[in-house]
Amino acid sequence: MQKVRGTQDWLELESSYFRSMEAQFFKKAKSYGFGEIKTPIFEHSDVFHRTLGESSDVVSKETYTFNDRSNDSLTLRPEGTAGIARCFISEGLAQKIPLKLYYCGPMFRYERPQKGRLRQFHQIGVEVLGLDNPSVDIECLMLGRELLKTIGIESKCQLHINTLGDIESRALYKEKLVNYYQKFSQDLSPDSKIRLEKNPLRILDSKDQKDIEINLSAPKLIDSLNDSSKKYFDSVIHFLNKLGFNYHLDDKLVRGLDYYCHTVFEFITSELGAQGTVLAGGRYDGLIEMMGGPKTPGVGWAAGVERLIELADKNLLTQNAQHISLIAADELGELAVLKLASDLRQAPKEMLSLPLTTEIIYGGNVGKKMKKASNKNSQFAIILGEQEVTNSTLVIKNLKTGEQKTIPSSLKSLSEILKT
Ligand code: ATP
Ligand code: MG
Repeated sequence: MQKVRGTQDWLELESSYFRSMEAQFFKKAKSYGFGEIKTPIFEHSDVFHRTLGESSDVVSKETYTFNDRSNDSLTLRPEGTAGIARCFISEGLAQKIPLKLYYCGPMFRYERPQKGRLRQFHQIGVEVLGLDNPSVDIECLMLGRELLKTIGIESKCQLHINTLGDIESRALYKEKLVNYYQKFSQDLSPDSKIRLEKNPLRILDSKDQKDIEINLSAPKLIDSLNDSSKKYFDSVIHFLNKLGFNYHLDDKLVRGLDYYCHTVFEFITSELGAQGTVLAGGRYDGLIEMMGGPKTPGVGWAAGVERLIELADKNLLTQNAQHISLIAADELGELAVLKLASDLRQAPKEMLSLPLTTEIIYGGNVGKKMKKASNKNSQFAIILGEQEVTNSTLVIKNLKTGEQKTIPSSLKSLSEILKT
């Protein structure tokens, strides 16, 4: 049996990186006053198909959509924001704004699998609902930047930022763009010919060489911004400057989904090949209203956990713990080992310098068990047999230095050695 293309099994090491990544993100988001939200992995298809834009890559090519046994059309979520907006409406959360939320979970997109591009992947993300202040955009960016710093990759990522303006500015810009592209309509890539009909803004985002050339002299959105949109973006940039952010103003950054407005941003790295965007987001003031809810501004971002882990300094995703192997030398030692393991697993924190992982080693004679203990990267092996039980002692060997001692079998004398 084979796993489905574009899916991934998470074995012990990878899972430990995932847990650590998630834990560090949760801690950081909580410290900003955010609270966790979990929404279903599948929703009515409309939740995504109506909101993300029929012409977006995600909806036109990438969703897993199926009819369930009652013939309801359901879609596995390709991203987190639309489900959270649906939840905001169906749970009546308008009473509770402003809401600051964070989440982590699997997402599904039918894409061409390659390194850093999966069909089931995971995102961590944040959303702030009910605030339309530029400071909030900055806070989201700060949280993103700090997260990248925590896992040692801030210097490998560059912040790209742009504004899409409000609806009025975008409508004006769209008109100018269509006029411009129509002059080149024969030369555009087949995808962009379709985009010209459906969503011309996304031609700016094209990876096609010919499109890229045409884009060089395309009108700039910044020249179509109305006063309030300009003012909004000026504040964002002013704050970024004053707060020492490194950023690149990227007027080609439009983001793949239709619901964005005003600030859009991506943290991009050159170290993951074509899959260079690690964290991306922006403002979506019209989304909730478009879904039939009360007019509610929003801003947020999502980051791909697999890409973050790939880039991360693995030392910063590894929990510091002391691994101890317990070895019974003979049958009489077995009960003593179980008892000691139980004592160590419940030992008060003050007695230890690091969290302990305590593992009983099974199978073979003492020599063989010692070998297994070293293979497990244990710092210490503790050996208990008839002689030690009779004398109320234990043998402890430091597997890094080879030093071996016999000491009284008490948690207190053990903890002194573990702390060295
Ligand atoms: P890309 O340009 O790489 O296709 P995107 O614009 O589709 O990214 P978003 O929808 O903004 O991505 O998702 C946010 C983040 O989720 C991305 O920056 C990336 O880290 C991650 N991501 C998106 N799609 C995938 C995927 N198929 N596999 C793994 N990670 C992904
Ligand atoms: Mg994509």
